[in-house]
Amino acid sequence: MSVGPEIAAEVRSTCPYCGVGCGILLRQDGAGGVAVKGDPEHPANRGRLCSKGAALGETVGLEGRLLAPQVNGQERGWDETLDLVAHRFRRTIADHGPDSVAFYVSGQMLTEDYYVANKLMKGFIGSANIDTNSRLCMASTVAGHRRAFGTDTVPGTYEDLEEADLIVLVGSNLAWCHPVLHQRVLAAKAAKGTKIVVVDPRRTATCDGADLHLPLALGSDVALFNLLLAAIYEGGAFDRDYIRQVEGFDAAVTKAMAASAEPTGLRSDLIARFCKMWLGHEKVVTVYSQGVNQSSAGTDKVNAILNCHLATGRIGKPGMGPFSVTGQPNAMGGREVGGLANMLACHMALEDPGHRAAVRSFWDAPAVPDRPGLKAVEMFRAVAEGRIKALWVMHSNPAVTLPEADAVQDAIAACDFTVVSDITAETDTAREAHVLLPAAAWSEKSGTVTNSDRTISRQRAVRAAPGQARPDWWHMAEIGRRMGWPRTFDYSGPAEIFREHAALSGIAGGFGLDFDISGLAGISDSDYDRLAPVRWPVASRQGGRFFADGRSFHPGGRMRMVPVAWRAPAARHAPRFPFRLNTGRIRDQWHTMTRSGLSPRLSAHLAEPFVEIHPADARRLKIAPDTLAEVTSPSGRAILRAQVTDSVQPGTVFAPMHWTGQTAPSGRIDALVAAATDPISGQPESKASVCAVAPFAAG
Ligand code: SF4
Repeated sequence: MSVGPEIAAEVRSTCPYCGVGCGILLRQDGAGGVAVKGDPEHPANRGRLCSKGAALGETVGLEGRLLAPQVNGQERGWDETLDLVAHRFRRTIADHGPDSVAFYVSGQMLTEDYYVANKLMKGFIGSANIDTNSRLCMASTVAGHRRAFGTDTVPGTYEDLEEADLIVLVGSNLAWCHPVLHQRVLAAKAAKGTKIVVVDPRRTATCDGADLHLPLALGSDVALFNLLLAAIYEGGAFDRDYIRQVEGFDAAVTKAMAASAEPTGLRSDLIARFCKMWLGHEKVVTVYSQGVNQSSAGTDKVNAILNCHLATGRIGKPGMGPFSVTGQPNAMGGREVGGLANMLACHMALEDPGHRAAVRSFWDAPAVPDRPGLKAVEMFRAVAEGRIKALWVMHSNPAVTLPEADAVQDAIAACDFTVVSDITAETDTAREAHVLLPAAAWSEKSGTVTNSDRTISRQRAVRAAPGQARPDWWHMAEIGRRMGWPRTFDYSGPAEIFREHAALSGIAGGFGLDFDISGLAGISDSDYDRLAPVRWPVASRQGGRFFADGRSFHPGGRMRMVPVAWRAPAARHAPRFPFRLNTGRIRDQWHTMTRSGLSPRLSAHLAEPFVEIHPADARRLKIAPDTLAEVTSPSGRAILRAQVTDSVQPGTVFAPMHWTGQTAPSGRIDALVAAATDPISGQPESKASVCAVAPFAAG
């Protein structure tokens, strides 16, 4: 099998940071570096880039790179290392069964990598214990989509933002987290006067361009959107024709009519103005992100938003609809291949015997599990309890990013056998691994990613992988071959894997499901090389708008409104922990900074971990601006620089999630986050833990 793509001096690729999925032009500069500019032909960005994308060229050096396989800290050859990993996984399965092993994968991986990981675990190892760090990003949206639409369909497109008259941004600091999309929103506002509403407990950079900001209480989104649904009903603004094909209208409205404004903490005039704006503009797009998803009521929040669009028929038409924007560059691709513990490939359902049989037959697999595997938080709990005995973490740093991160790091350290594949050995997770597999970085690998509006784009290598680094699909194919399935995992490269994925999607299409790219199943290697961005589906229904006919993917085809009621965040205040802790991202860093931290330009933006605290609270606690504060919760502690600001509400604090256990002062904020999850999606509640704040007294 060939592992490296041919390298051209200049290539079109995609930015490896956020789910906007901007196209970039990469050119070798002749001195070992790479020059980067926005691709004017890519439909996501038309040449635009944000600060992170523009600084990509500063992050391609070999500083900190893992260049050879390692076993217990010693460099080893590939054959010896792969044989060891295959042997340990085989032996663990023989001794303890297939559910004693697990893969934790990443929205940073390419679709082809994700596909092989999912096939190896679900088809051949015979367990569904593969979950992804995208569980922390959009699992609540997947669950909400499946309740309303019968499958995980994103109805909106980026062009809808330009066609909308009102854009409501819920739990989304678009200006910092999806900057190019925010540029498109502001351009639409400048061109045609689009109104913008921001629903967010914090006053973020996104509020600067907004017509209205609703600083609701943390976790109260369901109450707000139920109040909107009640206003839709009372104002007679529901679409009588449309709701004939919607199940659950009466039950959802009954719940909404019982909603109180009290949990939102918002003034009644602000709520009334919001409802008036929503009802006064037919073309409404509601964009939502982590403030909705990262909640113990995340799925209900999603359905509360979808209910308002379904009640008014504002979905499946240009310039209107709910629109979830994904955090990671390939969170969507992971959903497509079934890289979540509760999904099968190509949006087929693990719980459906027909779907399981079809996938098993297509893969010629010995087994496909009939029950969901462990979702992210459950998976690391099982590691801690010794139920998972062999763990493979790919391109992720759960010892920093999962809730109760200190306990997660301890669990990884205590696991019988841990493999980490990454571009660096210098993460808190990699430090605990028995085996390290050097992986190709974004500028060295080749495959596809899918962005938030279902556009599949090529990522192309512009330089050869250094040392012994190899693409992820190659790691997994080699392990699959050595575990006993040499022909099944004998892939020639990403194009062959992509063709197989596209062919499998045709089976999903045959079941009447949404994800169908079977039109690409016969793509040649050279056409795959040249593949231009294309939005799925790519089959007989190519180019169509989902839900234009008002039909869902549920049996019978009716959309479903789901009755939902507000409930408080899971973590309860106690006298020792009187604050709510909100976490999030900053403009110029990405995840745990393994890549963005290499750029001096990006690191200069906000150089150290910090906590935002309201002036009244800071005064009461005698915390002066720019001094150190100690933030503690039942599960952890961090020392952070105090930023005193009224952009947060009294009784709440905000801290970013990027810093690790290796920084001083210690900023590993997810150590403080409680491991409470949404009961349906399994997504952790990263934005409403409880904590205490005090001045830091050194020594
Ligand atoms: Fe990259 Fe996202 Fe910035 Fe686009 S908006 S350049 S995808 S980080």
